[in-house]
Amino acid sequence: MTKKKARFGALPKLNMPKKSHETRKPEPRPKRTVVQDLINKPSPQVHYKTFTEFCQRLSKLKSFQNWNIGTFPDRAVLKQVEIPYVLPKFEIVVDDSLAFTVRVYGCCFPEDHPVYLDYRRTVRNISINGLVKLLEENYSLCCGVDTLEMTSTLFHHVVPMSEGLEEDEQFPHKGYWRVKDCLVVCGKLEQVCSACMEYQKCSGKAKKAKSKHQLTPAHVNAPISKTDPERIKLTMQQQRLRCYELERELNEMRNELQKSSIEVDHELSNDFAKLFDSADNEITPFMNLFWQQQKKLFSSSRTGVRYHPMLIRFCLSLAAKSPSCYEELRKSKVLVLPSQRRLKDYRNAIKPQRGFQEEVIEQLRTETDCYFDVQRYVVLLFDEMKVMANLVLDKTTGELIGFTDLGDPNLNFAVLEKVDDVATHALAFLVRGVCTELKFGLAHFATTGVTAAQLMPLFWEAVCILETSCTVPLIVQRFRTTQN
Ligand SMILES: [Zn+2]
Repeated sequence: MTKKKARFGALPKLNMPKKSHETRKPEPRPKRTVVQDLINKPSPQVHYKTFTEFCQRLSKLKSFQNWNIGTFPDRAVLKQVEIPYVLPKFEIVVDDSLAFTVRVYGCCFPEDHPVYLDYRRTVRNISINGLVKLLEENYSLCCGVDTLEMTSTLFHHVVPMSEGLEEDEQFPHKGYWRVKDCLVVCGKLEQVCSACMEYQKCSGKAKKAKSKHQLTPAHVNAPISKTDPERIKLTMQQQRLRCYELERELNEMRNELQKSSIEVDHELSNDFAKLFDSADNEITPFMNLFWQQQKKLFSSSRTGVRYHPMLIRFCLSLAAKSPSCYEELRKSKVLVLPSQRRLKDYRNAIKPQRGFQEEVIEQLRTETDCYFDVQRYVVLLFDEMKVMANLVLDKTTGELIGFTDLGDPNLNFAVLEKVDDVATHALAFLVRGVCTELKFGLAHFATTGVTAAQLMPLFWEAVCILETSCTVPLIVQRFRTTQN
């Protein structure tokens, strides 16, 4: 290994310190070049320079079979005639500026025809041989479009014929319907040109849309003189169906009215109206609701009535106060009220039993859940009342009800003198809020006149339940006890 030695005056390049983060260097500027002229493309070959040269060369041509050539001072005409058509199949006219025009059975090519565009419509760019060959070999006649109706975008291309297919035909001819910008010719393998093809596609779509439109019934108020009779027919059918449907509904309603309407006599209805009118201002929300419900219930049928929860609550309260009075009110038919049987379903949501019940405590808990501060102060009341001493058999559970019962068997054995005594009194615990509207029956017991020894465990259990489960601080007040 030879040791490299730096030349005097040279900049060091090897083993230079490196940056830990290399920054990208800007792109070097392109080197300047000498501006040069564009290289001239070879100009396309010019076939003919002047019209006279064209005519001279045309007269010398002999390769055209069944082409008639005519030269005039200002134009040259080439025609290919095909029997029995009167008009030439191809006609090429070259004028004195060497521009050419092509006609196919008398129909000119459109200005933007590919043959014109490719050669800039001049025979300078294509020899007449080439043009004839191009037309004969690459193109055939476009058959036009099939149409049943005339529109402004179509024209009729008529080719007269020297003799018709039928002998007595007066003006024998063959006709084609073409689009205005039809290319007249198309490729050998195709039937129609691109413009005609597009028109046919569009018209097919339009026809389909129209037929679809015809299947839809017209608007009821559509002018009859301008609407398609088929659509009017459809509308008529639809309307008849609707009419029938409505008549049926009307009859149903009429029957229903006759069957299940209640006649409210004039006086009663007047009274109601007067009541509502006069009490409009000081009517309470519940009264408003109650009468609205009553109005609704009067008009609805007897079966499957849905009562408002507030109405049910009101009726429960009424029926609890006096069942016979409630029944009287219900039977008088002054008000529509739920039956006692129905109320029973609501009343017995929790099956009542002697002693403290978990469901009842749960109910109290939900009711007092939102209370806070002073709202949580309650009074625990207990009272005993005399009941008829008797035994009753519960049909559903098969239990004999009527014996003394403090809810808990252990307690029964501990404090009752005789367990199989028939109860004569009912002891109830009631909870009332000090600052709230809370009224809650906590529990009831069957006794024969409660003694202090029996009452004490029950009372402290009630206190315990209130303090622990419902977290309601207590003011305990011994309200009144009757001891017989
Ligand atoms: Zn066409």
